[in-house]
Amino acid sequence: MTTAGNGTVARVVLMGPPGAGKGTQAVRLAEHLGVPAISTGDIFRANVAERTELGQQAQRYMDAGEYVPDEVTNAMVADRLSAEDAATGFLLDGYPRTEAQVGELDRMLDAAGVSLDVVVELTADVDELVKRLLGRAAEQGRSDDTESVIRRRLEVYAEQTAALVDLYESRGILVRVDGLGTVDDVSARLLDALS
Ligand code: AMP
Repeated sequence: MTTAGNGTVARVVLMGPPGAGKGTQAVRLAEHLGVPAISTGDIFRANVAERTELGQQAQRYMDAGEYVPDEVTNAMVADRLSAEDAATGFLLDGYPRTEAQVGELDRMLDAAGVSLDVVVELTADVDELVKRLLGRAAEQGRSDDTESVIRRRLEVYAEQTAALVDLYESRGILVRVDGLGTVDDVSARLLDALS
């Protein structure tokens, strides 16, 4: 595994189905690694809230539980990764999610002369995911957390994103971590897996 100058893992992708706890763990792990957590879902939601052009392009897909088109998503990530704080490392949460996004991320990293250190898949079974997502819907009222949209998001993950895990596994950079348990338990497992 390639490491940054200070000996820590620096370029990380966190994958896993909706509800696996990626967002919470991404923030914690990124802080531990000293890199920015870059969540495409959070960036989209902020743009929707601020009614930007990007937000307007993304909203209808998000509300339906579908993926925002690759061109839109890739351009946004390219822009974010070119910021200075991402030069020495980053933790991507929720990207890449399609084969085209994997190809685009490869190109971006190649152009910068760097590569991913590790891809972490946070795993959880479907019943647990639905339970968690419905709980979050009740707490946070996210517009894409209704039951039918939750089911669609899980389907889209299975159809378009689950296979990417195998792709990274074939590259020898995949680590699987059980996402079941308390936030602290999962964080400890993640750190253990990356050490
Ligand atoms: P998340 O918070 O990661 O679950 O993302 C929420 C929603 O944002 C998703 O259901 C998609 O509509 C959209 N989204 C986030 N990341 C991506 C991505 N990499 N590609 C396409 N759409 C995305």
